[in-house]
Amino acid sequence: MKQSMTFIPTLRDVPSDAEIKSHQLLLRAGFIKQVASGVYSYLPLAKRTLDNIEKIIREEMEKAGAAELLLPALQPAELWVESGRWYTYGDELMRLRDRHDRNFALGPTHEEVITSLVNDAIQSYKRLPLTLFQIQTKYRDEKRPRFGLLRGREFIMKDAYSFHTSEESLDEVYRKMHQAYTNIFRRCGLNFRSVLADSGAIGGKDTQEFMVLSEIGEDTIAFSDQSDYAANVEMADVRQVYEKPDIAEKELKKVATPNQKTIVDVSAFLNVKPSEVIKSLVMIADEEPVMVLVRGNHDVNDIKVKKALNAKIVEFAEEEKTKELLNCSFGSIGPINIPSEMKIIADHAVGAMINAVCGANEDGHHYINVVPERDFTVWQYADLRFIQEGDPSPDGKGTIRFARGIEVGHIFKLGTKYSEAMSAGFLDENGKSHPYIMGCYGIGVSRTLTAVAEQFNDEQGLIWPVNIAPYDVHLIAVNMKDSEQAGFTEALYNELMNEYDVLFDDRNERPGVKFNDSDLIGLPVRVTVGKKASEGIVEVKIRKTGEMMEVHHRDLLATLKNIFKELSAQV
Ligand code: ATP
Ligand code: MG
Repeated sequence: MKQSMTFIPTLRDVPSDAEIKSHQLLLRAGFIKQVASGVYSYLPLAKRTLDNIEKIIREEMEKAGAAELLLPALQPAELWVESGRWYTYGDELMRLRDRHDRNFALGPTHEEVITSLVNDAIQSYKRLPLTLFQIQTKYRDEKRPRFGLLRGREFIMKDAYSFHTSEESLDEVYRKMHQAYTNIFRRCGLNFRSVLADSGAIGGKDTQEFMVLSEIGEDTIAFSDQSDYAANVEMADVRQVYEKPDIAEKELKKVATPNQKTIVDVSAFLNVKPSEVIKSLVMIADEEPVMVLVRGNHDVNDIKVKKALNAKIVEFAEEEKTKELLNCSFGSIGPINIPSEMKIIADHAVGAMINAVCGANEDGHHYINVVPERDFTVWQYADLRFIQEGDPSPDGKGTIRFARGIEVGHIFKLGTKYSEAMSAGFLDENGKSHPYIMGCYGIGVSRTLTAVAEQFNDEQGLIWPVNIAPYDVHLIAVNMKDSEQAGFTEALYNELMNEYDVLFDDRNERPGVKFNDSDLIGLPVRVTVGKKASEGIVEVKIRKTGEMMEVHHRDLLATLKNIFKELSAQV
């Protein structure tokens, strides 16, 4: 493609509203243009990059046995009422009405449409399993659209759904999808991890997220420094075994701690370590107040509390509510002499404490020399805290470290959540009906493009991995007014196009502008035709390494072949 004929509106200045590198560079390099908050136009370079990512996705999905279709973005509310999500999805669902006053939604995902479609067509167990996928524009009215394509309100997703007659069959497709996702993100050149994730409201089923490692990621990943264990920090089990210290129990005593409210304040005031203080919180689990205890240097993980209590909803109690229940403010809550109907659940670490400090349920007072089970009774010990850096890895291998990640993909065992709600299922060998067992598998396609841009750039601009770069080669004629140079470059362009996708900068711009734009756009290889054109010599530059070489045009194809072989091997 000749650059004079395409549309690459590069910008010299960094757009002021773009906070992260990828967003700035994609705007500056003329890949995207904002239309409204969280809504973007994909310009020709972005379109080509997206096409390349989608091609990889299509190949891997088909290899995993999934067939492509395309479902409507515009969906009747009735389907959403049937699944119940019309009422539970909240403000993120883009809702609209047609001229007959009928309600519609713009799909944020497609479980409803696809479950209904499959249910209408497939009754017999003989036709299952079935896996279908699409690559499509999704709509979510995100509270905080930001970072360009990373969190949009309109974005491109690959979503796949699988339908099964048994858990084993679902397990098999889930494993295949895990492999396909691994292949996809590897082929895109990304540095990523697959991590255990929270299955949220659905509960109990397997789910994994694919995280691209990046400082700007919104999620924290806990991973082992010695094995491939990795989990979303919310999900990581703590398997530490705590030893009781070998010291004598002292007598329980109430002491005044005026105005000492936080763990840090109280421990400094009493000259103890935060790990010697019991952190006590009141949580409301399905409307019942519960006291939750962890060590002062640990943080309560509400997802674990919810699991331990087998509760549907768990929330931290408001300060007003704790005053009503315990007659004290947040800073003085403790487990001693609380109303007998309030259960106490404690993290395993609390069970190994001796002569600890805790709140006295009286403002400005704490107990010292507290011994669990002597001074209060715990109803249940469980793993209730967030894992921390330095904790042993739950798989017994190595130590936990943290990293930030961008979620680019998500695979999920849905079970029968949608098929039961929508009465969708199959007949078995005996003619008995069962709900489909389902899985769903998403990839943020436009987010993946941003994640690559975020992971691969330098001061000069973007650095596209070979497999998804919008073009392979950037061909530049330094001076298009020099007819010999222009003619030579034109001939080279025609020759190279037989082997590569070539972007030919045929503009009448100054060389400096062309080189800057070229580095900004970041194609893997630049071929420059300049003064030595008369000798048949061109300059080849590898964007990733900055390496430059002069090559006779007779050797150009062979040189490029080697360079691309090398670059592909690094992916
Ligand atoms: P997040 O936690 O980032 O909001 P999610 O859990 O809501 O993501 P899913 O519903 O699992 O995401 O969607 C599948 C994939 O779609 C995600 O893994 C992500 O890559 C992508 N995605 C989700 N929301 C957005 C968005 N607002 N903009 C761009 N991509 C998105
Ligand atoms: Mg979301």
